[in-house]
Amino acid sequence: MNFFKIPTPCYVLENDKLKKNLEILDFVQQQTGAKILLALKGYAFWRSFELVREYLKGCCASGIYEAMLAFEEFGSREIDKDICVFSPAYKASEIEQLLPIATHIIFNSFSQWQKFKAKIELKNKQLQSLGLSEIQVGLRVNPLYSEVYPPIYNPCIPGSRLGIVPSEFSKGVQEFGLDGIDGLHFHTHCEQNSDVLERTLEHFQKHFEPYFSQMKQMKWLNFGGGHHITRSDYDVAKLITIIKDFRSKHHNIDVFLEPGEAVGWQSGFLLGEVIDIVYNEISIAILDVSASAHMPDCLEMPYRPNIKKISQTNEGEVIEDDRGASGGKYAYRLGGPTCLAGDVIGDYSFDTPLKVGDRILFEDMMHYTIVKNNTFNGVPLPSLGVISNGKFELLKSFEYSDYKNRN
Ligand SMILES: *Cc1c(COP(=O)(O)O)cnc(C)c1O
Repeated sequence: MNFFKIPTPCYVLENDKLKKNLEILDFVQQQTGAKILLALKGYAFWRSFELVREYLKGCCASGIYEAMLAFEEFGSREIDKDICVFSPAYKASEIEQLLPIATHIIFNSFSQWQKFKAKIELKNKQLQSLGLSEIQVGLRVNPLYSEVYPPIYNPCIPGSRLGIVPSEFSKGVQEFGLDGIDGLHFHTHCEQNSDVLERTLEHFQKHFEPYFSQMKQMKWLNFGGGHHITRSDYDVAKLITIIKDFRSKHHNIDVFLEPGEAVGWQSGFLLGEVIDIVYNEISIAILDVSASAHMPDCLEMPYRPNIKKISQTNEGEVIEDDRGASGGKYAYRLGGPTCLAGDVIGDYSFDTPLKVGDRILFEDMMHYTIVKNNTFNGVPLPSLGVISNGKFELLKSFEYSDYKNRN
């Protein structure tokens, strides 16, 4: 691979790695009968959907734009794909647009369900007359249990607006019943292993199992996203046991999982270039990639990505890993091209000096990056590319108009 032939900055998908993730996810589907949806929130790189579509059952959308993308690029009920939409609150105009597209609409409150119930029932009559599958309706619940840290990613913190808490659920059932509800949904995980799902299910069952008998027509349960299924230490066997047990105890009900991160996990990189090196107590390399514009989770989560330094020499390319804890002789702070003082990716070190023109490869940069990109400070958006069969292909580059049109 000649990294100097790739324009920077550029996100590069490695097709073989994506495929490996999809094979693991499909194995779970095959073993359990569960349906796995791609959560577009974390990974909306639709230029790869031809491959993703071969393995996954559909998409999880957080609103109208994601649902439209799923419909256009992934597939819909006409080809037996699911588009499962959840939003903390829908506007009437959004429901209108979702009716022809969504296969599942999940509400965050009884009031929203009641508000749009008649509209959905009317649409379902039409779908029925066309011989198409009807829109299924679900409620998102809050099982009051999540092990997610930090709190900004925890949907079960006190005062959380995400999901109906048990006491409100009980009130809602008394007032409106559950007739017309096809399934329940919870999303309480983030980068977690299957033991967390096991503990979470106990809480979910404690609070919501009493209602199962009232939901005679209950067709599915959606265990949300945040299952880190493709990470090397994830206990896939345990996940399979949990889902199989749950299904067998509940009339073989359908189970959905909707991972985003696990689909794009370690499936590609962001390539940047060293533009200058300055000194202020430490050597600081200024790159054409930005933490705040291109890798926001480095600041929000926060976390430190793994990197490689790529230098061009007379012999070709020399690739050197960051020495991390072992401490290379040459240390640098890597920063972005914006005016934000905190636009810093982290401190790194190597056995050989960094030079202007060197490339820096940031690993695992396909999820929660492209979807979060912004043009703060007018920094250019990274291009998009793919490596398949050892060959790089540039898929999309951005220009000034992409910046201008947003302002
Ligand atoms: C964020 C989110 C997902 C995907 O979560 P990952 O951590 O990317 O797996 C799935 N469902 C809902 C409702 C979400 O909010």
